[in-house]
Amino acid sequence: MTESAVGYIGIGSNMGDRQAYCEEAVRRIARFPKTAILAASSLYETAPLEIPDQDRFINAVVAVRTELSPHELLRACQEVEQFLGRKRSVRFGPRTIDLDVLFYGDRIIQEPGLTIPHPRMHERRFVLEPLAEIAPGLEHPVFHKTADQMLQVVRDRQDVRRLGPFHLEQKAG
Ligand code: ADP
Ligand code: MG
Repeated sequence: MTESAVGYIGIGSNMGDRQAYCEEAVRRIARFPKTAILAASSLYETAPLEIPDQDRFINAVVAVRTELSPHELLRACQEVEQFLGRKRSVRFGPRTIDLDVLFYGDRIIQEPGLTIPHPRMHERRFVLEPLAEIAPGLEHPVFHKTADQMLQVVRDRQDVRRLGPFHLEQKAG
């Protein structure tokens, strides 16, 4: 029997047609091998955190069921980032698309290049809002707090506004 896990992927974009980048990223995640989308949050618009002088982000979170390993899932996400033309010049700076593996089941992984749960997710309202929308009771395996509880105590007072649902159907023509 092949093992599968439920993973959560955080999506962000603050360059160009941000919503289109996020939607295209989800379409590509849905085509990852041995992977199915279980749920997608709404799209949220977020004021940038580390570098204030840049465009607002659009953020979302999707849940997947996957037979990919954590490393394979990260690798597949990085391929989407590269394909969609992410510029890696400035850390925390503008990017067409950022895909973060937030959780992989209740696995705890600390390796060079891959930390799961994502090490900054619990400080980020723009991750916790969409995560709590689709998985309010999901428990962080290190802090033993649910997504809802992490959202209640997050100190980040960033403005995160719900925009509406994804549009994942390919446009005709
Ligand atoms: P952030 O997403 O925190 O804004 P970056 O996307 O610029 O930062 O960081 C990318 C680096 O983070 C990659 O080199 C990748 O190897 C590493 N990384 C470690 N853990 C994860 C994870 N769970 N998901 C995505 N990237 C990760
Ligand atoms: Mg990232």
